[in-house]
Amino acid sequence: MIEKIRIIVCIKQVPAVMEIKINPETNTLIREGIENIINPFDTYAIEEGVRLKARLIALKDNSFDVEVIAISMGPPQSVEILREAISLGIDSGVLVSDRAFAGSDTWATAYTLSKAIKKIEGWKIIILGKQTLDGDTGQVGPELAHILNIPFIGYASKITEISRNKMVIKRLMEDRYETFEVRLPAAISVGKDINIPGIPSLRGKMKSRSAEIPVWGNEYLGMEAKECGLNGSYTQVIKIFTPEHKHETLMLSGTPDEQVSEIYSKLKELNLI
Ligand SMILES: Cc1cc2nc3c(=O)[nH]c(=O)nc-3n(C[C@H](O)[C@H](O)[C@H](O)COP(=O)(O)OP(=O)(O)OC[C@H]3O[C@@H](n4cnc5c(N)ncnc54)[C@H](O)[C@@H]3O)c2cc1C
Repeated sequence: MIEKIRIIVCIKQVPAVMEIKINPETNTLIREGIENIINPFDTYAIEEGVRLKARLIALKDNSFDVEVIAISMGPPQSVEILREAISLGIDSGVLVSDRAFAGSDTWATAYTLSKAIKKIEGWKIIILGKQTLDGDTGQVGPELAHILNIPFIGYASKITEISRNKMVIKRLMEDRYETFEVRLPAAISVGKDINIPGIPSLRGKMKSRSAEIPVWGNEYLGMEAKECGLNGSYTQVIKIFTPEHKHETLMLSGTPDEQVSEIYSKLKELNLI
């Protein structure tokens, strides 16, 4: 029988702005008028998934077949990024979405993603972005690997070897390269140095328009109420706010010596010296 090897790429929809704006009254993100995009690091994860599939196929081993699946947990409109992933070469997409998942922190997100991944037969490689533009914690990858009890290599910069059972991964740290050999299944997170993301092909665009994207809710994943959403979250956001930047300008006058002593007194007054 031909084994099906599945590469899972986790992608998240984020607002397309560098500066996230927060409504100070409701403590929620201001989403009006803001375009949503694939989290930028996840585009590298998509490209790597497509490349790893091509490399596995190039091994010309007829005993297995490879498929790349993108998964996103989020509101119904996240389906758009799954279509975009398909236009970029991903084979199919799964949207994990349910009101019961609202309010998930990183752990509940990772737990829910793990439940979805376990529903996919033959998952062997999980690729994530190294962090998101909005939440920005970088926690989902390691938490997901921990829950699935598989190795995790963060900030992978090159997959130097790939076979049906193992990967050799290189990553660049501040002062050195590190090389890891991991057995599969395993998870990695990637950043900008791993590849140059592709652009949608015409064939991909056509495929993405007609692709059926299943929506998996909790009825399908079967988690208990205490395991998901706010109830399954260990952390709770008490308050979110944009720090207020107060600028005070002090104009100095007098001779250079007088200005220096005025600066000195001011710094002392502010307990800065
Ligand atoms: C108490 C609390 C309540 C929250 N409530 C909400 C809420 O109601 N609604 C809401 O939208 N957010 C909510 N969040 C934010 C939510 O927890 C994060 O969006 C989510 O856990 C991902 O964390 P991150 O963005 O830091 O991802 P990171 O850990 O920085 O992401 C790393 C990588 O993990 C993958 N990844 C991350 N998130 C997903 C995902 N959802 N689907 C697929 N892959 C993913 C991507 O590959 C990404 O590049 C809440 C957070 C907390 C702490």
